Amino acid sequence: MPQRQPSYDVCIVGSGAGGAMTAHALTQAGANVIMLEAGAWWDNTKDSAMLKFPYDSPRRGASTTERPFGEFDACIGGWQVEGEPYTKADGTKFDWWRARMLGGRTNHWGRISLRFGPDDFRRKSLDGLGDDWPITYNDIAPYYDQVDQLIGIFGSKENLPNHPDGVFHEAPRPRCYELHVKRAADKMGIWCIPARLSVITQPLNGRAPCHYCGQCNRGCMTNSNFSSPNVLLFPAQKTGRLTITVNAMAREVATDAQGLATGVHYIDKATGKDEFVAAKVVVLAASACESARILLNSRSARHPQGLANSSGVVGKYLTDTTGTDVAGFVPQLMDHVPHNCDGVGGGHIYMPWWLDNKKLDFPRGYHIEVWGGLGVPSYGFGGGIQGMPQSRGGGYGKALKDEYRRYYGSTIGFSGRGEQIPNADSYCELDPTVKDRYGIPVLRFHWKWRDDEYRQVRHMQETFRALIREMGGEPMGDMPSKERGYGIANGGAIIHELGCVRMGATARDSALNAHCQAWDCKNLFVTDGGSFVSQADKNPTWTILALAWRTADYITQQRKAGAI
Ligand SMILES: Cc1cc2nc3c(=O)[nH]c(=O)nc-3n(C[C@H](O)[C@H](O)[C@H](O)COP(=O)(O)OP(=O)(O)OC[C@H]3O[C@@H](n4cnc5c(N)ncnc54)[C@H](O)[C@@H]3O)c2cc1C
Ligand code: SF4
Repeated sequence: MPQRQPSYDVCIVGSGAGGAMTAHALTQAGANVIMLEAGAWWDNTKDSAMLKFPYDSPRRGASTTERPFGEFDACIGGWQVEGEPYTKADGTKFDWWRARMLGGRTNHWGRISLRFGPDDFRRKSLDGLGDDWPITYNDIAPYYDQVDQLIGIFGSKENLPNHPDGVFHEAPRPRCYELHVKRAADKMGIWCIPARLSVITQPLNGRAPCHYCGQCNRGCMTNSNFSSPNVLLFPAQKTGRLTITVNAMAREVATDAQGLATGVHYIDKATGKDEFVAAKVVVLAASACESARILLNSRSARHPQGLANSSGVVGKYLTDTTGTDVAGFVPQLMDHVPHNCDGVGGGHIYMPWWLDNKKLDFPRGYHIEVWGGLGVPSYGFGGGIQGMPQSRGGGYGKALKDEYRRYYGSTIGFSGRGEQIPNADSYCELDPTVKDRYGIPVLRFHWKWRDDEYRQVRHMQETFRALIREMGGEPMGDMPSKERGYGIANGGAIIHELGCVRMGATARDSALNAHCQAWDCKNLFVTDGGSFVSQADKNPTWTILALAWRTADYITQQRKAGAI
């Protein structure tokens, strides 16, 4: 018999962006909260490899199974998680990244923190495609402001249409290679502005400003960037009202005869035992697809299709950001004069969507991220030097080292990150036969890009190649053909999966109302990316955070009113 635990006001599943923001706001408002997290404990101030040099490890930073982005990367998880498979329908190309640690993917995300713009919430009204959100920019704007001020973000006031400014710390100046990019972008009429990253450049709530070591993805020991444990969860614990249970794999939300949530069943990974925690309110924030999985696995007489799924949309309208990359060799950056290239662990510039779709053959836009420069080299840096244009072939000893010095920093890359329109062929469902190591049915994915996305990605490829040529460089690799999808990344590969538990104006065609509350179960909420009606030409996490805070405030009001 599982041991009975105390009952809580709220049980939150998942400690990433959405879960942590919800926990922070609810504990500040006086709720007694328990958080279930499938991964292990993590604290950047103790666990980060921020100050390690490659030669501190015999692996020189090479990736491991648990850390596919490199041995020093802060994220424990990856494209495959041992004992937790997922399946794909025939012909489907979909990759699912999962973090398994306190803080989830916020430990090593790129920290590009963009607000959605007013148009992003009403796309159907503007071009007839997809669906409008049941909320507007004005509903969420105060929460974006609050997130900016609590967590901290740098950027610049630009007054650009549909790219709202925020409450910014001063942005760091562009580095040498970024100035080259900006010059080319200016010539081509592409807006190129300071990046907007959740890195603080002035002290904030006891956190020190960034000292520009460039290792954000390893976790910041000085808490100068945003990861959910150090910025939200540990301060929430100080209220004395947050209990965090790690290595707790949620399996199912329990409901009573009225169909209301009563708590969460989970597997204690240390003992393998099935446990139950009772709560008056349940919040799922296990990441968009994982929350859908928990709901689909929560079947009962009152909820035979799974919880919050009377509309049948749970798992549906799964979207990811479109993406493709082009790298270029820029001879002007060879044999560089040593100079200070310090900065944050991400670009200091970016290019928001700058064109009018009425003049293009695809709807919706993309933004451009830039990479390059002279960061600390790690295992495998520079790729095969012998393949560089005009290379003398590498060689051995001094000749090889000289060759690396000549070429180091002469490669610049562009990544496009664009908006996919949700479609009926991209979704997840429970696999009828496969279960994970805990006996929980796994997800099966279905995925299709549409012509709109292929045309958008072709435009990215052409633009990036033109930018590289404008810098006097040459693109590395040929333009991918139509047969190769113009180089579009697999669904899921950009790691911005959203939807699956979408919000909407009616219970007929959505799982959640405008407050991320399940239509079918009033004490159940979802605060990860599951609620999103659509993507945007922006990364999603700042919107996940703002929506989570808004939802937490609604839960507090409803509890005060005695409605839940
Ligand atoms: C390399 C990389 C770069 C990125 N860069 C950016 C960027 O620059 N800007 C941006 O906006 N976004 C970026 N993202 C995406 C961003 O990380 C996610 O949008 C964000 O973290 C999602 O937050 P979440 O709360 O939904 O989920 P997550 O952060 O994934 O957290 C979910 C948590 O739930 C836990 N969990 C899962 N299942 C269960 C279960 N059954 N029981 C209990 N716990 C469970 C997981 O262990 C995890 O800790 C990036 C992601 C990656 C991987
Ligand atoms: S660059 Fe700044 S925010 Fe990033 S890890 Fe270094 S000190 Fe921290």
